[in-house]
Amino acid sequence: MVEIMTAAEAKNSIIENTFAIDCTEALGLKSSLGRVCAENIVCPIDVPSHTNSAMDGYAITLNSARERQTSASLWNRVPEKIKIIGKATAGHPYSGNFNQGSAIQIMTGAIVPKGYDTVVINEDVSVSNGNLIIKEFPNKGANIRGAGEDLKKGEICISRNKILTAADLGLLASVGISKVSVFRKPKVAIFSTGDEIKNPDERTSIGQIYDSNRFSLSGMLQKIGMEIIDLGILPDDPIILKKTLGSASSSSDVLITTGGVSVGEKDYMKNVLNEIGKIIFWKIKIKPGRPFTFGIIDKSMYFGLPGNPVSSMVTFSQFVMPSLVKLSGATPQETFFLPARAAEAIRKIKGRTEYQRGFYEKKENGSFWVKPVVSQGSGILNSMSRANCIIHLTDDLSNIKMGDSVLIEPFITNKVLN
Ligand code: AMP
Ligand code: MG
Repeated sequence: MVEIMTAAEAKNSIIENTFAIDCTEALGLKSSLGRVCAENIVCPIDVPSHTNSAMDGYAITLNSARERQTSASLWNRVPEKIKIIGKATAGHPYSGNFNQGSAIQIMTGAIVPKGYDTVVINEDVSVSNGNLIIKEFPNKGANIRGAGEDLKKGEICISRNKILTAADLGLLASVGISKVSVFRKPKVAIFSTGDEIKNPDERTSIGQIYDSNRFSLSGMLQKIGMEIIDLGILPDDPIILKKTLGSASSSSDVLITTGGVSVGEKDYMKNVLNEIGKIIFWKIKIKPGRPFTFGIIDKSMYFGLPGNPVSSMVTFSQFVMPSLVKLSGATPQETFFLPARAAEAIRKIKGRTEYQRGFYEKKENGSFWVKPVVSQGSGILNSMSRANCIIHLTDDLSNIKMGDSVLIEPFITNKVLN
């Protein structure tokens, strides 16, 4: 057991001890949003399946059409006509024969009939007595989407380990796939600990407080698609804690508790973990969230988060979430950092990583400026609710001066596209 780790060491240790789920299930497309794809999906058809028109206009054979229309001036002959001999609309292909020098009226999405190589758009032509007059000749091949241009039959269209997005559901539908194999959701059991903790619908007496951790934790777990097993609130009683953790470990992949991980008289979690499992480390050089316990109970991972509401959210987002992403079978993603200028001086102690809650804004010249939210206390959940980013201040940094560049992790992402 290691007592204290740096933030980077703790992250590595957690990831090294995380395995990926390999159990799969087959789901209909609409139910698979946000789930992790368990197979390399091979495209069964070409997309588009046929060479088709990208615009409304006329399919022509460029060279012969040009020759016909311009022969008058070149050879002093009456120009031959470009006769419109048929029509093709989406879903209703032209079924007649190809005639050299003719044109087919064609709509967007319609199959380009054999022999024709270019589509000239409506805006660039006029029609007289069933003949086409081209005002502006396009390049050869213009306005035509080739078969297999988007995806080729036999090519991998969605890779194993990809989190399925709205675009992926559409893509799979576009190649005629209606079911997809995904990894099962990780099962995460959670409970709050503390004699003083009550449910928000219970009456509190003096010295008691409402449980906020289980609610923010459920929210974060829901957002990353975990199956939550909510075991409620447990008292500071080592026998009950041991029994609950023991039985929960047999039915879940991960156990997350809040509170009771420090060195107070009633902080039992570390000892309980030591008795029924294995402690890997139990403190990280960070603020907030220093008393953070990580270990293994049977085949489950155990995360003992600190009781303070901000500490539990910050440590979950920085240390637990990456592990759950790996567990779910998804390809790990780098944290997205944005450089921003400190809008005020920030106090920082060298030798530990600080995750300050910040509010960033974009200035007129396009640069980002960030301010720590007013109250940084680890019990002040309001600060988390008002913040729009985490300011990452790594171990090597000391006090930050106004105007210095810092890295921020914005909360905002594109919610419909990702
Ligand atoms: P602990 O880590 O158990 O020493 O708790 C640290 C602080 O967080 C104490 O003030 C607790 O009352 C508070 N706390 C613990 N658990 C929760 C919870 N589930 N919701 C809100 N506050 C909590
Ligand atoms: Mg406690």
